[in-house]
Amino acid sequence: MTGKTTRLDRIVFAIIFFVMFSIQCFAEADTDKINGMTYEQAMKRIPERKIPNFWIGDVAGLPWRLEKLTKSEVRTIAISPGGRPMHLVTYGQKEKLGHKANFNSAIGGREPASYMDKSARKKPVILFVGPVHGAEVEALTGLVNFINIMENGEDLRGKEQSKLRDLGLQCRLLIIPDGNPDGIARFEPRSLCGMEGIDLRFWGQGTWSDDTFCGWPQSKRRHPMAGDDVGFLGCYFDDKGINPMHDEFFAPMGPESPAILKVAAEEGPDLAVSLHSHESKPAVLRPAYVTTEVQQDIRSLAERCYALLAERGLPHGGFFEVSSEGGKNPSPFNLTSALYHISGANSFTFECPHGLKDGCRVDFEQILDIQLTLYEAMIRHEIEKKKL
Ligand SMILES: [Zn+2]
Repeated sequence: MTGKTTRLDRIVFAIIFFVMFSIQCFAEADTDKINGMTYEQAMKRIPERKIPNFWIGDVAGLPWRLEKLTKSEVRTIAISPGGRPMHLVTYGQKEKLGHKANFNSAIGGREPASYMDKSARKKPVILFVGPVHGAEVEALTGLVNFINIMENGEDLRGKEQSKLRDLGLQCRLLIIPDGNPDGIARFEPRSLCGMEGIDLRFWGQGTWSDDTFCGWPQSKRRHPMAGDDVGFLGCYFDDKGINPMHDEFFAPMGPESPAILKVAAEEGPDLAVSLHSHESKPAVLRPAYVTTEVQQDIRSLAERCYALLAERGLPHGGFFEVSSEGGKNPSPFNLTSALYHISGANSFTFECPHGLKDGCRVDFEQILDIQLTLYEAMIRHEIEKKKL
C-alpha cells in the first residue's frame, strides 16, 4: 500500500466515478417512469433536512398556538371524521348588514343587496381558506405566519411585517388555516421542499392496494376514495375519503366544505381564496362557473399579485384568459365555484410551488414570501376597490 496514486488508480477512479454518475443520472431521469411506491419506501425518501421553525407542516400544535392569540376571535367550525378541529380565526369587527335572501335568490331578484349590501360596509371582508389538500401545507405555513403578523407585526421568522399588518387592520379577515385537518395530519414529510414529483404523487393522491399511484386526475374518478383496493389514502382526502375541493356541495359527504361554505354564507366576503400548491410557479387560476365580471376582477388581481412577486424576485406563472365554460374537458364546479354561488365572493384558487427538485425550485423562505405577497396583493386589491 502506498499513499501515491498510480495512473492505473486514476483510471479506475475515473471509471467508478463515471459509472456512479451515470447511475445517479439514470435514477433521476427515470423517476417519471416509477408508477408506484410502498409506504415504507415513501418514508425512506423523506430527506434529512432542517425544516425551519417558521414552517408549519402539521395541525397537531395548532390548538395550542391559537389559544394564545389575544387580538382575534377563534372558534372551531367543524370536527373532521378523524376527530380533529377545524378553526376560524377572525380579525376586525363584523359589520351588521340586512339579510333578506340567500345569494342566488337575491340575484334572481335582480338585487344582490337583498343578500347583503356589501357596498354599505366600511371595511372589505376577505376569506382565506387554508389547505383542503393535506400535502399542500405551504398555505398552513403562510396563514399561521399571517396570524402571527396580525398579532404582533412580525412573522415567525422574526421579520418585521408591520406594513402587512396595517393593511390587514383595514379589513375584516376570515382565516381558516386548516381546511382538511385529517389530510394534513397524514402528511408525514411536513413539506415537499427539495423532494420530487413522485413524492407528491404518493403523498398527494395516494396509492391503490398494489402500491401503484392513484395519480392525477385519475384519483378524482372515485369519490369517496374508499374500498378494499385503496392502499395509502392520499392527503387529498379526509379520513372518510372525502376531497373537500370536490364534495357534493348540494348534499355534503364530509364536514369540511359545508363548514367553509357556512362561514362564507354568513359573512358575505368580498374576496375569497382557496389555497393550494403544485409543482410549478405560483399561479392564480381562472374561477369556473362565475360571471365574466368576477373572472375579470380576479385576472386584475393576478396582475397585481404577479407584479408584486416579480418586484420581490419571486417567480410567477402565466395569466388565465377570461372565458366561458365548455370544451372537451370543461372545468369542474368545485369549492371555489361554490364559494361564489353561496356568498357572491369573488373567489379563486391559488397554486403555490412546493419547492420540488424537479419543479419550480423555491426554498422555505421563498414559499413563505410568496404566500405573504399574495395576501398583500389581495388586501390592496380590495382596499382600493373600497376607495372607488
Ligand atoms: Zn390542491
